[in-house]
Amino acid sequence: LFAKATAALDRLRALPGVRVEVRSPDPAAREVPAAADRLAFTQIARHLFGNPREVVPSPNAEGIEILAVTGQQGEVRALASRIKQLLLDGVSPEEIVVALRAPDDYADIVDEMFTAAGIPFSCDVAQPLTKWPPLKLLLGALQLEIEDWPFSRLMGLLDSNDFRPAWEEWANGQAVRDVADQLRHLGLDAGRDAILSHLARRAGGDAGETSAEGTRAAAALELRRSARSAVGLLERLSRTTAPLRRGADFKTWSEEILRLIGEFGLLPSADGTTGEPDSTAARELRIWEQFRETLMSVAFLAAGLEATPTKLEPREFLAELTDLLRTVTLPRDTQETGRVRILDSNHVRNLDVPYLFLAGLSESSFPTRSADDCIYGELDRRELNASGLTLGHRAGHLQGEMLLFYGVVTRARRQLVLSYPAVSGRGQPLSPSPYLTALRELFVPGALQVTRAERLDPVPELEGMLGLADLRIVATAEALERRPQLFAALAREPRGREAAQGILAAIDMGSARFQGRGFSPYEGVLQHPANLRELADRFSREYEFSATHLETYAQCPFRFWISRVLQVEPLEQPGVETDYRRRGIFLHQVLAQVHAELKSTLGTGSDSESLHADAALEIAACYQRLLKGILDRERPTSDLEEVLLGLEGRLLERWGTAYAAQWAKYQSELQTRLGMPLLPQKFEVPFGRPHPDAPPDDVVNACLVLGAGADETRVGGRIDRIDVAQVGDVTVFNIIDYKTGSKPRFVAGEVQFGRTLQLVLYALAVEKLGLIGPQAIPYQAGYWCIQESGFMAAAKAPDLAAGDLGPHPDWVNLTDALEEIVPRLAAGIRGGQFPVYNADDECTSQCAYKTVCRVNQIRPLEEKLDKSWQP
Ligand code: SF4
Repeated sequence: LFAKATAALDRLRALPGVRVEVRSPDPAAREVPAAADRLAFTQIARHLFGNPREVVPSPNAEGIEILAVTGQQGEVRALASRIKQLLLDGVSPEEIVVALRAPDDYADIVDEMFTAAGIPFSCDVAQPLTKWPPLKLLLGALQLEIEDWPFSRLMGLLDSNDFRPAWEEWANGQAVRDVADQLRHLGLDAGRDAILSHLARRAGGDAGETSAEGTRAAAALELRRSARSAVGLLERLSRTTAPLRRGADFKTWSEEILRLIGEFGLLPSADGTTGEPDSTAARELRIWEQFRETLMSVAFLAAGLEATPTKLEPREFLAELTDLLRTVTLPRDTQETGRVRILDSNHVRNLDVPYLFLAGLSESSFPTRSADDCIYGELDRRELNASGLTLGHRAGHLQGEMLLFYGVVTRARRQLVLSYPAVSGRGQPLSPSPYLTALRELFVPGALQVTRAERLDPVPELEGMLGLADLRIVATAEALERRPQLFAALAREPRGREAAQGILAAIDMGSARFQGRGFSPYEGVLQHPANLRELADRFSREYEFSATHLETYAQCPFRFWISRVLQVEPLEQPGVETDYRRRGIFLHQVLAQVHAELKSTLGTGSDSESLHADAALEIAACYQRLLKGILDRERPTSDLEEVLLGLEGRLLERWGTAYAAQWAKYQSELQTRLGMPLLPQKFEVPFGRPHPDAPPDDVVNACLVLGAGADETRVGGRIDRIDVAQVGDVTVFNIIDYKTGSKPRFVAGEVQFGRTLQLVLYALAVEKLGLIGPQAIPYQAGYWCIQESGFMAAAKAPDLAAGDLGPHPDWVNLTDALEEIVPRLAAGIRGGQFPVYNADDECTSQCAYKTVCRVNQIRPLEEKLDKSWQP
């Protein structure tokens, strides 16, 4: 045990001219523990780590307890509970010390648990300066410049609670939200120059937008306001951090970094510093002062050592600064009066402690593994030491650890509590330190009190409650066992009233959700009259639904509610990625122009086969020419975007060739069935109220109206293409909907549930609104899947060649179904029916709202509690 000290003594004795005198401390000068305790503590002091054959186990272990508890949280909770009891029994907090074997693992838990328990404490555990959030923010600003403003790092700085600049551009934080919105909107995920120039352009606005009217003008103005606010803040930030983008010597760097503390508003406010010297603000000031002194002393040293100061690039300075700050620890709590002290176990061995708690005595933490024993083996170390080197070796390390343990446990005077986590956070059993086992063997079996608290129940024991948080849990558990007295007491307590109300509301929700039949307000069925009034107003008879809106509602009413009614959108990380919408717009534009140009030539001639082959060639050539013209007008904003645009162009080129072949096949099939082609007659045909983005000269058609009276429902939309043929006196038409993604599913049976409406609704609109003239009959409606095999009809066509001049009976059934289902869907929306229900069991795999809908809790109750829904 004392090998290290003995070796040091031997070396001192061996030095020439040195006289060594060994003195023992005077036992009379020390506080004498109470008689009953002395025996147990004396046993430890005399025999711990001694020869087991010479140790006579003592029957008296009074004042010593071993605690084996589940997890570190449980361990600290058990300590807090015992300490609180001591304080309630009148023990002065200053007489209590908690020694932590692994301060890094325990300090935060102790802080949280002791604060919740209302135990006054001072934590004297050293933590590196790099762990302090305001300093992390400062280092983050340097990293931001080095990485050229990546979105996540930029928002990390601006969104930080510590970032409080006195800049008017910051606008009390509102500008930060504008920055986030604008960068997401522009898809800019990095690059200071690109970000600033794009925002500046947008803040300057576009004359066309400001001359628009109504909602479009208001949206344009808001966009410009937000862009101005965002660019104002970012330009100020950029000016402030400009010095961080160039190399400098250490002193200049340090001065710039210190300047940022004030610029970013990191110093505590003047109001906060007028209070106690121990206040948070005073401590923060001490930390900043320590930081300043550290930087300046290193700068002074560097200036003294170097004739010409070394220029450090930003990356080099950041590395040096981070290394430096890791070696400096945060100033400790100076105020210990009237507080329980939390100390690193290394700092306890010179104290006399009436009540000592030593925590974290697991097998792996006491003794610790020596960090430097991986390079040389034990034998090598001994040989190197014998040659005069002073390398540590395993035996020496273990001796040091034993001495530390001995030095700590012999400091207790009245009570010694030794604790360890008996079960890890993952539920694995953990063993205690072998030193603890050695200590137990000093006492006869059963003499030493060993308390095992290996419970996994999250509800604290009644007598182990630490504070209000525990009281809330225990009172609720008691009430659920039909013992409401504690809960009533909580509700009467002013600090507990709000919590009690919250718990009662949660119980209401749980009971409605997990015990009530059918869907409740907690599962999307709105009942509050004000909400219902708002819905009835917003989705009144004048409101125009789109096919997509109605389908979304029919597939998942709850999703419709969040996305369309509340307009909550998932936050996307900005970045350059495929813009599927824009890709679709390109394709629509090109195809519409191709058919407009070739209108007079396509569909004429007599030999159908050669006609289709020739037409395909013509279409392909025209498509490539027009596509090039459209792509040439694009202005990429970065090199990356230019490359992506090139790739996009190649894909669209391939699609042109594919489309031409698909056209030939489509017309060939029509020729076989109908004896004539159906030729594109109209593109992008709107019906209903014009879209805000529609060109001013756009055609205006009436909306489609389904249902009558209170159920009357209006539907608007835009049809990609209508192909037409004249069969005798009858006009027949095809509805075409372009698809550039994967092939959509059309199941005729789904129409009656509203989950597939678009094609049938569009066909009905053409018929009812006379969009291609009166008395037109739907021949086919389908998706044109560019990536697959072209046109795919969704329902059977009438056999016009056989003289069957009416629409196919299947179509009649489908359009009849629309008359039923569309008003029913609208009534559900107007009536606040948004239950969490989706017939697709896999819907969570790609839904952004899965974390808020709780469908996985509700689904298992579908049958038992009637939690299913049909529109
Ligand atoms: S996860 Fe399913 S049930 Fe939940 S909102 Fe999304 S689609 Fe609806």
